[in-house]
Amino acid sequence: MSKIQSKRRIFFNLQVDCEASQRSIDNVELGKRAVEGIHEVLADASRLAYKATYVVIPKDLQAYGEVYRMLEQKGHEIGLHLHPKEDGWEEFLGIYGYEEQKEIIDYGKIIYEDTLGHSPTCFTPGYFSANDYTFPILEELGFTHGSVSLPTRDLPQCACIWGSSPLYAHYPHRFNRSLQGNVNFVNIPITCDTASRMWGGATPLDLRVELVDAKNHYYTIEKSIKHQLKLAEEQEKDHVCYIKALTHNIFDYSDKKNFRRQTLASILDIVQDLADRYDLELVPATTRDIAEVFRSTHALPEKSTELELDQRGRKGWSK
Ligand SMILES: [Zn+2]
Repeated sequence: MSKIQSKRRIFFNLQVDCEASQRSIDNVELGKRAVEGIHEVLADASRLAYKATYVVIPKDLQAYGEVYRMLEQKGHEIGLHLHPKEDGWEEFLGIYGYEEQKEIIDYGKIIYEDTLGHSPTCFTPGYFSANDYTFPILEELGFTHGSVSLPTRDLPQCACIWGSSPLYAHYPHRFNRSLQGNVNFVNIPITCDTASRMWGGATPLDLRVELVDAKNHYYTIEKSIKHQLKLAEEQEKDHVCYIKALTHNIFDYSDKKNFRRQTLASILDIVQDLADRYDLELVPATTRDIAEVFRSTHALPEKSTELELDQRGRKGWSK
């Protein structure tokens, strides 16, 4: 086996939540320019050709679907994103029960199919708002992967409570969204540093391009790589190492002087530098690619996880 082949791989994906048609933004021209600008940065010949996963709300799909068809042909992934208020429901997906939630996601699925000519398999809800119905509904509607959770985000006002849910790729539990289980859907959280808190402590510092500058992102990326390597060496040898960044198409990424564009370019450089430093093979990936690698090394369990009560603290007083 050559040295290159023996290197541990680390996947990098950028997710772009596309929602420029939202009433609060209402600027599809900006959305289109942003998506094209992001594509330009990813395709910059001075680096690896990176891949993005664009998750798109129905109205953006309807407004400029041709751009997403072009991106798909170039090897990027197009998934579904929802801000249900834009389509006539309340804003937060996580307040809905089974029937209505299924109806909301199915509505988006139909618009996606009309625009792209095939069914979506990747999903992200706005604000990561979800509840215990969400994963089984996604499975039922044919979605196979996505980024549904943001570990440790605690925003009850957005029906988004993720507590100590898994940090990395996993199959979710059928009845409890924060546990691992046997729903046939690979959930792939965005890279985040749960110890660094934002928004008054309610949400972790995640790898969202627009949140902080490149220096802060550097620490988040390096911390995640070190944590994942330790996990892979000490606990889970099949752990799929990845870095997943996030942004939105509501900033003018077509402008070369735009701060977010420069931050994104810096993130791509940082990922390559750190991959080299930790002797990792950097592999550009869509969210689907990461899900497929996870599936190839992790069989879907037959049952959702069984939990065992930790009784060690009782030892002193139990007979
Ligand atoms: Zn969104």
